Amino acid sequence: MTGALEQETPVAARVPPGGGGKGPLLELDDIDVVYQRRGRPPVQAVLGASLTLGAGEIVGLVGESGCGKSTLGRAAMGLVPLSRGTVRYGGTPVEPLGRKARPQALRSLQMVFQDPYASLNPRRRVGSQIADAVALGRGDGLKSGEAGPAVAQALERVGLGPEVARRYPHEFSGGQCQRIAIARVLASGPRCLVADEPISALDASAQAQIANLLASVAADAGLGLLFISHDLSVVRKIAERTIVMYLGRIVETGATDSVWSAPSHPYTEALIRAIPKPGAGASLPVELPGDVPDPSRPPSGCRFHPRCPKAFDRCPKEEPEMYEVSPTWRSRCFLAEPGVARPMTGPAR
Ligand code: SF4
Repeated sequence: MTGALEQETPVAARVPPGGGGKGPLLELDDIDVVYQRRGRPPVQAVLGASLTLGAGEIVGLVGESGCGKSTLGRAAMGLVPLSRGTVRYGGTPVEPLGRKARPQALRSLQMVFQDPYASLNPRRRVGSQIADAVALGRGDGLKSGEAGPAVAQALERVGLGPEVARRYPHEFSGGQCQRIAIARVLASGPRCLVADEPISALDASAQAQIANLLASVAADAGLGLLFISHDLSVVRKIAERTIVMYLGRIVETGATDSVWSAPSHPYTEALIRAIPKPGAGASLPVELPGDVPDPSRPPSGCRFHPRCPKAFDRCPKEEPEMYEVSPTWRSRCFLAEPGVARPMTGPAR
C-alpha cells in the first residue's frame, strides 16, 4: 500500500490532459443552489457554478468550510434541487430523485461520502453489502457462486483480503472502513465518482493512503473523479485540475501545477500560504484573515474583499467576472482582468 503523499508519483501525471474520454462525462452548467430557511434569509450556497469532468480525469474542488463545495458535489449527484442551471451525466439530465430509484443511465455516477461508518450498514456483513453493489451494477442480479469472487475482487482493488467479507464494519478502523466503502462503490461498476471530503474524518496516515487509493483506482479504471477537499496539499498531489470555491462562487480554475505555483486569485494564494510547510525549510502557515462571512448576507462586490490583502476601491462596488489568465486558467479577480497591471508576486510557496 502507498506511503506518505510526498513520496508518491503524482497520479495526475499518469492521466492525459483533459481526461481520457471523448467528451465530458459530467457537466454542470451555470448552477445555483439556494437553501430556503423558515423565518430567515435564504442561503445562496452555490452561485453560477460551471464545471466539466472527463473520463480518466481527476479534478480537485477546494475551499474552506462553508464555501459551497459539498453542496456543489451533492448537486452533481442530484441530491439537492437546483434553483438555476443544469447538470448532465453522459448527456442525461441529473434531476433530484427524492424517493425514486436512480435511473439506469445514472447508476455509474457514484458518490464516496465523508463518514465511512455512516455510509455502511452496521448490521450487515461487509461481503453482503458489496455483493448488493455488484448486483446493482449488473442490473440483472447475481447467479449462485458469482458473489464470492466478485466481492473478493472488489476488496483486492482496495488492498483488502477476502476474509474481510465475513466481518462487520465496526470491526475496522476509519481508514479500513473507507476502503470498504470504496470497494462497495467500485463493485457497482462506476464510470464517475464524486468524493465528498472522503479523507477529512480519517487520521493523517490514512488520509494519504485513501487519497492515493482513490486516485489510483480512478486512473487505472479510467474513471472521472471529482475530489472535494478542504486540503489543497492533498489535491495538489492527485488532481490534474483544481477548482477553488469561496462563498458559493468558483473563484479560480486551472491546471493544478499552475494554480499551485503562481495562484492568480488572492484567496487561492492565502489557502496555499495557510498550509504548513514541512522539511528543512519548514515555516509556520500564514492564517487566513477573518472568517468566512455569513452566506445569507454575502459582502457586496467581490465576496472576498473584506479579507483580501490586495483589495482596492473597485472591489466592494463591483463583482468580478471569471477572467482568462490563459486558455485553460480562469480567475475571478479584477487583477486578472485583461489590461489591468498585476502586482509583481512570486510563487505562493
Ligand atoms: Fe481581492 Fe479585489 Fe481581487 Fe477580490 S477582486 S480578490 S477583493 S483584489
